[in-house]
Amino acid sequence: MLNDEERQLQQLARTFTQREIMPQAAELDRSKAFPQAIYDQALALGLLNLTVPEAYGGAGLGCLALTLVTEELCRGCVGVGATLSINSLAADAIIHHGSEEQKRWVLPRLVAGELASYAATEPGGGSDVAGLQTRAARDGDDYVLSGSKTWISNANHASFFVVFARTGDGGSRGLSVFIVERGTPGLRIGEPLDKLGQRCAPTCEVFFDGCRIPASQRVGEEGQGFRIAMDAFDHSRPMVAAFGVGVHARCLEESLAYAQTRVTMGQPIIRHQLVAAKLAEMSTSLEAARLLAYRAAWLIDHGQRNTLAASQAKLFAAESVMAAATEAVQIFGGMGYSTEYPVEKLFRDAKVLQIYEGTSEIQKLVIARELQR
Ligand SMILES: Cc1cc2nc3c(=O)[nH]c(=O)nc-3n(C[C@H](O)[C@H](O)[C@H](O)COP(=O)(O)OP(=O)(O)OC[C@H]3O[C@@H](n4cnc5c(N)ncnc54)[C@H](O)[C@@H]3O)c2cc1C
Repeated sequence: MLNDEERQLQQLARTFTQREIMPQAAELDRSKAFPQAIYDQALALGLLNLTVPEAYGGAGLGCLALTLVTEELCRGCVGVGATLSINSLAADAIIHHGSEEQKRWVLPRLVAGELASYAATEPGGGSDVAGLQTRAARDGDDYVLSGSKTWISNANHASFFVVFARTGDGGSRGLSVFIVERGTPGLRIGEPLDKLGQRCAPTCEVFFDGCRIPASQRVGEEGQGFRIAMDAFDHSRPMVAAFGVGVHARCLEESLAYAQTRVTMGQPIIRHQLVAAKLAEMSTSLEAARLLAYRAAWLIDHGQRNTLAASQAKLFAAESVMAAATEAVQIFGGMGYSTEYPVEKLFRDAKVLQIYEGTSEIQKLVIARELQR
């Protein structure tokens, strides 16, 4: 199914993960340190900013390439994998909807190693994109932003923020998108939030207090923000599904190795049929999740509408990785609950897959809506 170039990229990411991410994952989880050295190495190897067109210094690859690499990185640590891949959310909004001037401003700097955050969620809610309240008031040739965002990944390291704000009255037609550069007066980044899993991937509040930016930093037309957000999900959900696939693959790997060596009642626990069944189910749902993610990515790379496929992939990956991580802890018994083994981290890391990039409930709403089209 994959071509030679895709297989080589996948192999490169696999080897990198094995050598550079896996040995550091537990310590990064404990210290909550930003994986800067890993970021720099991955950048030098050409594993980042894959979807940035060659005209702006990027690799000019598609969503499937991004999905393949992301899966491998997340097999090592989804906190690291998320940190390394999250640029693509902001970059894709600019690639697909930005002006030529905006692309020349931002994209080469991302390729050179700077970071961008995607800022939609607010303290008042993340699921209801159409209801967000951050304001962008037009003032001559400028906009003045006021409001706040929360849970913004990589915000404390980002040079750019792709910000969703309200330019018109209520509902989805009143939203617009802006690029805000770090250092703009009125922009303030909070401290990283403490969280259950993916602890080396920083997430912060972002505050806009009379933050003035030129109108030339608006992405697309005024009022197009909701459409840009929905379009961004079509590109990002296959990649986020791959976050789950990577963790799921690791759950299977760790569980299989443990079940072959742990002996109870005179035999390795994999010979007990109830344990063997867990592994059989884990491997089957892994393959299904992987194929759904690849399919959603392939569709958009081939110019086909993938909203249904992307939501199905994200939903299935999130639900199946949570189930796999729960069973992985179970297979390890008491040691599954210990920080001595990696599965408790996989369990903590998996949970947020059901929450970000659209909760599982929201994916079901999208899928049901798409079925009725
Ligand atoms: C680690 C992490 C990283 C994140 N990174 C980013 C980022 O980089 N940028 C960004 O913008 N956001 C980010 N988010 C935010 C994330 O996208 C939101 O948390 C998510 O969309 C859910 O929004 P909420 O937390 O406000 O929950 P709410 O929207 O308040 O939902 C609460 C519960 O109600 C359910 N619910 C809500 N509405 C409905 C409905 N209509 N029907 C059925 N059920 C419903 C939800 O499914 C959920 O179970 C991140 C979050 C986390 C935890």
